[in-house]
Amino acid sequence: MKILVTGCAGFIGANFTRFLLENYPDDCVVGVDSLTYAASDEALEELCALGAERFAFYHADITSEKAIDEIFRREAPDVVVNFAAESHVDRSICDAALFISTNVDGVRVLLDASVRYGVRRFHQVSTDEVYGDLPLDSVEKFTESSPLLPSSPYSASKAAADLLTLAYARTHGLSVSISRSSNNYGRYQHREKLIPTVIFSALSGKSVPIYGDGKNERDWLCVIDNCRAIDMIVRHGRAGEIYNVGTGVSVDNLTMARKILSLLGKSNALIEHVDDRKGHDVKYRIDCAKIQRELGWKPQTEIDEGLSKTVKWYAERFES
Ligand code: NAD
Repeated sequence: MKILVTGCAGFIGANFTRFLLENYPDDCVVGVDSLTYAASDEALEELCALGAERFAFYHADITSEKAIDEIFRREAPDVVVNFAAESHVDRSICDAALFISTNVDGVRVLLDASVRYGVRRFHQVSTDEVYGDLPLDSVEKFTESSPLLPSSPYSASKAAADLLTLAYARTHGLSVSISRSSNNYGRYQHREKLIPTVIFSALSGKSVPIYGDGKNERDWLCVIDNCRAIDMIVRHGRAGEIYNVGTGVSVDNLTMARKILSLLGKSNALIEHVDDRKGHDVKYRIDCAKIQRELGWKPQTEIDEGLSKTVKWYAERFES
């Protein structure tokens, strides 16, 4: 099978491409990435070395109809998995334009090419943030049929892409699937995100910034568990379906920062509470019964074990 992975030099896309190359020796991967600030040179170099002739890389922008058409024409992928996105909520608050361009129009370009070239499955990588948030004391969980109520320009652009993807299935008969995962952690994540920020700030002896009171809760999912889930959905998930992916275990940001400081042997006194993010989502909680029931997926990495490996990986990069 030939799988086209967009955003292959970013955090989850690089982990997913690596997962495919390591686990499916008969598959080929076509990687596409415009190499924005969020791309990892290290990840891309490792993929080129690991994949050899089974990995082809194209430096291209998903919003470019011409570039995308040329790649689909040359490569004729069986499956498309779209990770390419502007992914940082804070940046979407300062300037949403690029988020609409990449996260919505870029998906439209990929969907059109997928219809034109008869792709067997288009998988859109989405987020649990499309459901909006919950109060801290809520015991509710969002299911795949919960209403979309995004809070940030980022999550609104992702919700729009989900709707566009489903519309192409209905209108053009394209076989699509969507995964909505919770927050991921692991190697290759850009330094601007919470976990790398805490690690690098602490190792530099700088204060560790935490938004507001730090009580905001997130369901932290090891990126490898998400890669396994996406792979199962692409290969065995039902066409036209949405699957939530998460652990069901929530940790607040302050507790997460303290766990990381403890792993690094640093003091909690480094934590500095800073002005809260505008419109900051309080808590996400998703029901993942569907993927467990239909595909037998469940997370395999317990948070303390996964976090410990992740902190070690970043600490090694800080020292080198
Ligand atoms: P990331 O920002 O680390 O990587 C995105 C990648 O896409 C980068 O390599 C970037 O260069 C590339 N890219 C950006 N714009 C592009 C364009 N126009 N054309 C081609 N390539 C482009 O993001 P991530 O954290 O790996 O997230 C991947 C996907 O997963 C996103 O769609 C995001 O919404 C979703 N997601 C992420 C998380 C998370 O915790 N990181 C959780 C749920 C869903």
